[in-house]
Amino acid sequence: MSLYHPLNEQEAIAIAKSLPGFFDAHAELACREIGDGNLNLVFHITDPESGTSLIMKQALPYAKVVGESWPLSLDRARIESEALRKQEELAPGLVPKVYHYDGDLALTIMEDLSDHVIMRRGLMDGSRYPEFAAHISTFLANTLFYTSDLGLNQQEKKRLSGRFINPDLCKITEDLIFDDPYTESSNNNYEASIADCAAALREDNALHLEVARLRAKFLTQGQALLHGDLHTGSVFVTPGSTKAIDPEFAYFGPMGYDIGAVIANLLLNYAGHEHWSADERERAAHRAYLLDTVTSVWTLFESKFRALWDAHCVDRLFRQTRGYQDAYMQDLLRDTAGYAGCKMVRRIVGLAHVADIDAIPDATARERAQRMALRIGTDLIKNGRQVGTIGQVLQAVQEGV
Ligand code: ADP
Ligand code: MG
Ligand code: MG
Ligand code: MG
Repeated sequence: MSLYHPLNEQEAIAIAKSLPGFFDAHAELACREIGDGNLNLVFHITDPESGTSLIMKQALPYAKVVGESWPLSLDRARIESEALRKQEELAPGLVPKVYHYDGDLALTIMEDLSDHVIMRRGLMDGSRYPEFAAHISTFLANTLFYTSDLGLNQQEKKRLSGRFINPDLCKITEDLIFDDPYTESSNNNYEASIADCAAALREDNALHLEVARLRAKFLTQGQALLHGDLHTGSVFVTPGSTKAIDPEFAYFGPMGYDIGAVIANLLLNYAGHEHWSADERERAAHRAYLLDTVTSVWTLFESKFRALWDAHCVDRLFRQTRGYQDAYMQDLLRDTAGYAGCKMVRRIVGLAHVADIDAIPDATARERAQRMALRIGTDLIKNGRQVGTIGQVLQAVQEGV
């Protein structure tokens, strides 16, 4: 008999009290469901007396966004908790600590990061995060290198990848990102004012050819353990701290997908600042900051990844073959550009959007931002395989503006 059922706040409190070493037996705990997602419950539990707190995230067996009609495996809660633990091991301090995982309830109990803000929200407010590029590039370099055949021997890698077979969540990505935006689909969701752009996406075979290559790689290239959903809504920040949350889409896939996700979301914010900056000077300054951040994310990632390769590559052929590292980094940059483009396009015409753009109240400014994001996104997809430097990636951005 399955013990699984969605918890209510009283049950969440009872579980929290039963955890050894957290709360006093007599504590009067407060509990609030704070989830903003469509797939999970998130309980915030605090002891107002001592200030001790924790987060309980429970997977739901369906996607809320379409009622209960879209079933989703609860195994993703295990995948998320194991991904968080692996990421903490490889990139300490850059994810919330997992205190406990309960497989029957698909429940992860973890560190409360309420003193951080969701980066997407912060960027909409015009905040800057000077340590973000340094932190996220370490997260990316360490997690990707040490779960790839460069940093892990082939047998261990295959054994590890068996724990991250994630068909239901991969299918969401395969459909929503690498299919729906390029065809008539009931999942698509865009405003009538940009129907011409949506039609153009459906008719552009040169674009489809690039999307097909990226989709095929996503389906077949188990390069490294990805976070799988590394948008700015999955990043908690303060000026001095960065924590990646919500790796329920984790699986072994192409590295450029994670790096591209970060870059895409910085660029969606760039487009959104059609509205979020009060005046032109402020807008230009914020956008320059975002482009600098994109450059730093890639440049720092590349130097850290190459340093790990030079010092810790476990594969003789990969280590000793002159030119292989350079060729690998070039391919990775190209994948990154292409995936960034796909991530931007789906946020404008696909099912799930981003607040950077959707929350713009003025329809004219919102449409300008949507068109800009689509121009940048399609440029990145179409030119991705030609770029050789991050500067050329940003060239595509500036041409898209
Ligand atoms: P989903 O997979 O449903 O998107 P998330 O893991 O992104 O769930 O969490 C949804 C929201 O819950 C986050 O945006 C954040 O507001 C809150 N949350 C999640 N994890 C934590 C945490 N460790 N500390 C504080 N708040 C959290
Ligand atoms: Mg969410
Ligand atoms: Mg999620
Ligand atoms: Mg989330």
